[in-house]
Amino acid sequence: MDEWVSTAAGAHLRGRVTRNTKPEVLLRQHVHALGLRFRLHVPVAPRCTPDFVLPRYKVAVFVDGCFWHGCPEHGATEFRGPNADRWKQKIETNRERDQRNNAVAEAGGWTVVRLWECQVRRDPTGAAHRVQSVAKGEA
Ligand SMILES: [Zn+2]
Repeated sequence: MDEWVSTAAGAHLRGRVTRNTKPEVLLRQHVHALGLRFRLHVPVAPRCTPDFVLPRYKVAVFVDGCFWHGCPEHGATEFRGPNADRWKQKIETNRERDQRNNAVAEAGGWTVVRLWECQVRRDPTGAAHRVQSVAKGEA
């Protein structure tokens, strides 16, 4: 009973990528346009690797997928179908890991910026400015 049941709704999720997702790349382009320099996928603590970091400012940036991290706007509030409990569990586990990552990164002297993929898609310039203001200590 430990296998995911294949459903039509889940089909598109199986091929998901967790690195270099579209919103991640979009945000990086805008951050780069602001003249900020970043490095990709650098671990800041054991088992804690942000999407990118601004080493100069010790800022760690994560772009969270709305579905998998439970965005208040787009995260599912109700799960249906044969995998309902599993999905719920998986998202809870992700959220716990996010909290843990924030804590260990901050313990290591990093400032964490977490953005939802929908924020980045809706306003990539605004999202990049958010990263910048945190980096420059204005946020
Ligand atoms: Zn969202």
